[in-house]
Amino acid sequence: MISIAEALDLIARTVLPVGTETIRLSTASGRILADSVFADVDSPPHTKSVMDGYAVRSEDVSKQAPLRIVETIFAGENPAQPISAGMAARIMTGAPLPDGADSVVMIEQSNEFEQDGVRFVRLEIDALEPGRHTMRQGAAFSAGEAMFAAQHQIRPIDIGLLAEVGAATVNVYRRPTAAVLPTGNELVDPAVVPNAGQIRNSNGPMLAAQLTSAGMLVTNLGIGRDDPLELRDHIQTGLQNDLLVLSGGVSMGMLDLVPEVLQEMGVTKVFHKVNVKPGKTIWFGVYTRQRDRKYVFGLPGNPVSSLVGFELLVKAAISRMNGYSRIQAQTMGAELAESHQARGDRPTYWPGCWVDYERMIRRVMPLSWLGSSDLRPLGQANVLIFFPGHKENYDVGERVDVVPIG
Ligand code: AMP
Ligand code: MG
Repeated sequence: MISIAEALDLIARTVLPVGTETIRLSTASGRILADSVFADVDSPPHTKSVMDGYAVRSEDVSKQAPLRIVETIFAGENPAQPISAGMAARIMTGAPLPDGADSVVMIEQSNEFEQDGVRFVRLEIDALEPGRHTMRQGAAFSAGEAMFAAQHQIRPIDIGLLAEVGAATVNVYRRPTAAVLPTGNELVDPAVVPNAGQIRNSNGPMLAAQLTSAGMLVTNLGIGRDDPLELRDHIQTGLQNDLLVLSGGVSMGMLDLVPEVLQEMGVTKVFHKVNVKPGKTIWFGVYTRQRDRKYVFGLPGNPVSSLVGFELLVKAAISRMNGYSRIQAQTMGAELAESHQARGDRPTYWPGCWVDYERMIRRVMPLSWLGSSDLRPLGQANVLIFFPGHKENYDVGERVDVVPIG
């Protein structure tokens, strides 16, 4: 049985990034950049006023004499003439500063008047440092500077900067496709009241939602019965996707047919068991046809095992498809808010929730949990707390690693 680290290593070596495509910026939120993005302009593109007011020579301000207004410059226009001694130009926020001027006086600190048909402005300040209320061309960044590195996931707030640097289209990883196939003769649709011996299909909808939130385009294959021919048909359809995620039927029971059927169909096993609780029996394989590669996970049937397997390993494969080389789940340090007694010696991921942020120290509480079939605490859980498995008793305040989930 391999460790999680070994499983991650095998995933990293098996899974290749999917191809890329160029898409419009308006549809790019959530997508992952395949190339770095460079600025094609300076920001700001010209030295500009950041206030509505008067463009002046700062040395004129201390002379206390009214300045003659020579023009009005609006944003989007270019100044018609330079400013020399004794002159000012009305200027609006964002408009280019005229040559000769080095600063701007706010409109609130001025008074305009007319004399012999000529407009003047009297400034109500004694002095002004050069550059005041202006922003130099290129002060924020210069053309050619890198704005975003490849592999950056575009957030809504990134769209503004991408627009500013002319990234009207961006080269991103293609959205990988995934199919979900829960298997089990006992499974019924969530809309159905289970008969004796039946159980609702929790994994299908959950895995589909997890895949969607990981950016995949998802197809639900319905419920697969524990029958080799039926499984074959479903798997055949599922293999049209980049990723096929099955649940159930992967362990030692008489109707656990999934690994055998997969292998008969030419899916090559990479690993079958991982030393983790819950979810030891995780099957992972790859299906190669010409230059096409499809990846298959067979997750355990119990919902919490499925969920944990997804968070730790399926997500890692998705990261790799999206071009990442660091693929392990993000972990954070935390302190236990309650003592905990571990059962067994397998490394365990236990549902937990944040308690508070006392003294900037994150505290987590292990939730009451009955094991891999018990989804109940997951309603409150926002982390999986990692208990390494080499000891039994964990005290209040002890440091643990947690994996955020949600
Ligand atoms: P299996 O891995 O097929 O042996 O299933 C292990 C346990 O998980 C059994 O108790 C199943 O009834 C249960 N199970 C399997 N698939 C699902 C599912 N899609 N939703 C909820 N429970 C399931
Ligand atoms: Mg089963």
